[in-house]
Amino acid sequence: MNAEANSAWAKDKAHVLHPYTDFASFHDEGSQVITGADGMHVTDTDGRKFIDAIAGLWCVNIGHGRREMAEAIADQVMKMQYYNPFGHSTNEPAAELGAWLANHAPGSLNHVYYTCGGSTANDAAIRLVHYYFTMRGDHRKKKIISRNNAYHGATYVAAELTGIHGTKNSFDKVGENFIHHVSAADMFAKPEGMSEQAYCDHLVQEFETRIEQLGPDNCAAFIAEPIMGAGGVLVAPRGYHRRMWEVCKRHGMLYIADEVVTAFGRLGHWFASEDVFDHQPDILVCAKGITSGYIPLGATLISDEIYDVISRPQCEGGVFSMGLTYFGHPVACRAALENVAIIEREGLLSHVQEISDYFQSSLRTLAEDRHVGDVRGIGLMAAIDLMEAPEEKRPFAASFKASDRVFNACLSQGSIVRPVGDRIILSPPLIIEKDHVDQLTGHLRNALTYLRT
Ligand code: PMP
Repeated sequence: MNAEANSAWAKDKAHVLHPYTDFASFHDEGSQVITGADGMHVTDTDGRKFIDAIAGLWCVNIGHGRREMAEAIADQVMKMQYYNPFGHSTNEPAAELGAWLANHAPGSLNHVYYTCGGSTANDAAIRLVHYYFTMRGDHRKKKIISRNNAYHGATYVAAELTGIHGTKNSFDKVGENFIHHVSAADMFAKPEGMSEQAYCDHLVQEFETRIEQLGPDNCAAFIAEPIMGAGGVLVAPRGYHRRMWEVCKRHGMLYIADEVVTAFGRLGHWFASEDVFDHQPDILVCAKGITSGYIPLGATLISDEIYDVISRPQCEGGVFSMGLTYFGHPVACRAALENVAIIEREGLLSHVQEISDYFQSSLRTLAEDRHVGDVRGIGLMAAIDLMEAPEEKRPFAASFKASDRVFNACLSQGSIVRPVGDRIILSPPLIIEKDHVDQLTGHLRNALTYLRT
């Protein structure tokens, strides 16, 4: 076997099925193999060093390669690396983290269900919603309203495939078609001439109308990312989340905030729902930044009100039967505790509050480019929309692969950005400094010239 065939690149290409990957072209190109990571940077097998402008995948909040994380993880492995987490036993880090989350989360979100990441945490949220209404005797309240363009995860209906009698007692058969979608809060889609306030009214009215159509007695919950992330870093009109929450309250629905991206500092706060968007969700879902991606972990937080109902004696639906082997994994929870200690010790929340103005205004200078339709964002989340002719809202032909061109041009200069559709998405580690912002903006400015036809 020659050296290339024996390389990680070749083995990966031959054997690994990557997410969101066109397997046909992947077979020829393979993947860039990242071998090192330190602070704001990652390096590949060729020794090339890049600014990681997407924090891994919206997750490496404290930056790469932190020795304190390695030490905390190693220490926990040496002490107690794993034990069965079901009802009769627990571990110290899971308990400590539960208390930390209850102290820092908005409102009365005092109870946590741990999972393996964001998708499983959203699965748990839906399971808990159904369980809650079943326990209350509201057997019809099962429908969930989400939004077009939302991203909430990738798991399949594993529980539906399970055939063991008794594992589904606590979950009613909701059948197909229990998830519905309303419009995204997309200011770029706001009709010409309509005010921000009127657009917000329109979205809230659409939500009300959908609830009326589905029947308020059937509607259980609304789920939303505070800032729609993968859907394009869409910042909702002012007051939107609060008003959607008020509609939920009026119709006896639960509000689920999917803070998988926005929690743990990305918007300069532990959680965005209350501090940035002025409402207290009934359920809050987090993952990613909870451990800064050092180890997978997700968490679904529920309010006292929900807990009081599901903890009633002799619940008619039986026990909450969603069980994950790695629930409250001690090493992951210990990593999360160290991660939040680093964020606290280094004042990263206030750092984000300060640096994000510089980050956002620096990126907005790119709006002058003739192929940029919009630059937007908040905190350390941003998106750049690429267009052939922004004044006519004319997109590039798909075959032109505009965002791939910008991605490749950034890569060759030393920055990794994220192409999604005809957008570039940015979500750097929270430790970003002004000189990183300057380099990144410079790389993007040059990269945009690759769109000239
Ligand atoms: N919710 C949101 C808002 C996300 O951005 C993501 C992942 N990008 C998920 C859920 C799913 O998380 P995971 O990939 O950890 O399952």
